[in-house]
Amino acid sequence: METDRIIKNVARFRDVEKYSFIVEYVPPIIRPPLKGQDVLAVPPLDVYVHIPDCPYICDFCSFYKVRKMTDGQRDRYIGALGKEIGLYITQTNLGQRPISTLFFGGGTPTRLTPTQFSVLMGILRGKLRFSRGIEITVESTPDTLSNEILSAMKQEGVNRLSIGVQDFNDDVLEARKRGHTGKEAMDAFQRARRGYGFDRINIDLIYRLPKQSPENWRKNLDIIAGLRPDYVTLYHLRKERRTVLGKLDESHFPTKEQAIEMYVNALEFLVGLGYTQISANQFAKPGKEFVQQENKWHLGSELLGLGISAYSCFNGYSYRNIGKFGGTDTIDDYIKKVESGCLPIESGEKLTPLDEMCRFAVFAIKTSGINRPDGGIDKRLFRQRFGLPVEFVFPEVLEKLKKDELIEETGTHIRLTLPGLVIAEEAAAMFYSDEIRKRLREKNDLFGRGGL
Ligand code: SF4
Repeated sequence: METDRIIKNVARFRDVEKYSFIVEYVPPIIRPPLKGQDVLAVPPLDVYVHIPDCPYICDFCSFYKVRKMTDGQRDRYIGALGKEIGLYITQTNLGQRPISTLFFGGGTPTRLTPTQFSVLMGILRGKLRFSRGIEITVESTPDTLSNEILSAMKQEGVNRLSIGVQDFNDDVLEARKRGHTGKEAMDAFQRARRGYGFDRINIDLIYRLPKQSPENWRKNLDIIAGLRPDYVTLYHLRKERRTVLGKLDESHFPTKEQAIEMYVNALEFLVGLGYTQISANQFAKPGKEFVQQENKWHLGSELLGLGISAYSCFNGYSYRNIGKFGGTDTIDDYIKKVESGCLPIESGEKLTPLDEMCRFAVFAIKTSGINRPDGGIDKRLFRQRFGLPVEFVFPEVLEKLKKDELIEETGTHIRLTLPGLVIAEEAAAMFYSDEIRKRLREKNDLFGRGGL
């Protein structure tokens, strides 16, 4: 009786002519042709190297750094970086992955002597597979850009230079005890450009520093118009609790309304000069984009961070090395760790498929620009990467951002509007997963940097 009922229920599903076992997914007869080399291809990778040495300690800065390391300390640190890479090479496919971009950040990498810089480049070149046309960026301060280091960088193939100027007004710089004047910053830029032929130079500026105002901020823009760097990065001051500046009360700073005014003025001015807004806080001359940033933010690529405090998204994990700002880890701790054969990782976690989608959206939305048609979340790329439409994964966030007129949709992209660009970080944080937001709420934090 029971068998009769089953037969009645299910026989209509069976086509005995076409019946088969399923042993493959995707089904073989609908698969397109594929070449062996496609299967063997290893994905390219971007690499960040942290050099913690600084000529002075700026009171607003929350990066891991050490004031004036000695030559000997730097030598040992470079040796440890080589060992850290070695640990990855013996245990992962790092040695086979083509390196698309290399970024030396810090700290102040131009504190390395020319010889040390060449030794470090030799180690990296010897262990990693540099792609042809690799982008190599070095961060610097104007006062550390000696002719000798400029020449060494040029010889070693550095093709992108980033100068942390922060402001060209001397009273703003003096108040922060920076080691250079506005004029010296301009001279350093010109020497790099004219003397050494660097044709991809970024200038970093910070707005909302004490002693800044919308009026004297204008001088920065005029100087940018004169220098015409290839790339300009505008940072809103982060008032990190553990920095000296973070402890000052609000009366020392331009108001948040003034800061917004400075940002919007700069944005309109730079776009008017012919720059493309590459992300909420970055502007590039045509053809002078910052490839590492594009790879990580726009395409959601992995990034391997090396050195103390470096951050990575590698092998499906998001993690950072020991060396929190304000923490107790020293450079010796980092060196000891790698010398004992351990990766110097402090914290991190494996990204879930949802985390991967959130990470992609968080960074991609920040690549919006007022005059960048392909900025923001590329809907086709999102679907290709994750197999789902972005609108399906984030329906509520998108609806809320749209209702507040912070995003707009084109046929191909979802991007921030001008008001959205002003609060790009807050808008991006809305793409955090519920789980991440819940964990942040327990820490009473919005972005998750812990106020440092
Ligand atoms: S802002 Fe630059 S130079 Fe100043 S402490 Fe930070 S990393 Fe060093």
